[in-house]
Amino acid sequence: MDVVAHIETLFRTHGNRRYDGARGEPVSALAHALQCAQLAEWAHADATLVAAALLHDIGHFSDGDLSDELQDDRHEVRPLPLLREHFGMAVAEPVRLHVAAKRYLVATLPEYAASLSPASVHSLALQGGPMSAQEVEDFDALPYARQAVALRRWDDLAKVPGKTTPSLDYYLVMLDELRQSLPGARFQRIGALDVA
Ligand code: FE
Repeated sequence: MDVVAHIETLFRTHGNRRYDGARGEPVSALAHALQCAQLAEWAHADATLVAAALLHDIGHFSDGDLSDELQDDRHEVRPLPLLREHFGMAVAEPVRLHVAAKRYLVATLPEYAASLSPASVHSLALQGGPMSAQEVEDFDALPYARQAVALRRWDDLAKVPGKTTPSLDYYLVMLDELRQSLPGARFQRIGALDVA
């Protein structure tokens, strides 16, 4: 299946799941993703980072019991093979690092820790708590650290019930264009034409 069609299926199948808002109000997982992508666009982020914002939580979209609140679900790791293969590191790395970015921000910005929702404080503890000074230094040296921190800030804000956003279709078109613009995409298309 085409990767964009696969992503659409994931959102259509799992996107109506509840995602807790800043004051405990529920927004759906789809609304959260769309709001996050919209905030990235409003910040004039690159298309790769808008895509990362849209896709950062698709690791939650799998079957099985993800509701065990005593465990960290490692949702930032699950989609990495798909993201790396089809969209490259500029999409995959901010997704991989968006959980670590919360630990980074808590350690480096006191006002950030105070702004976290109860659900976010709970998951922070499961994810290892604030970074140590050495971890902060190591994180700063990563190639996509800045993008991951930006994504994290949008992630935290993308929880407003009833907010108007572009549609999923709008972002799926953007994903398709992004995929076709990446190195290797032309090769794949020529290959497909050869087969046809
Ligand atoms: Fe999120």
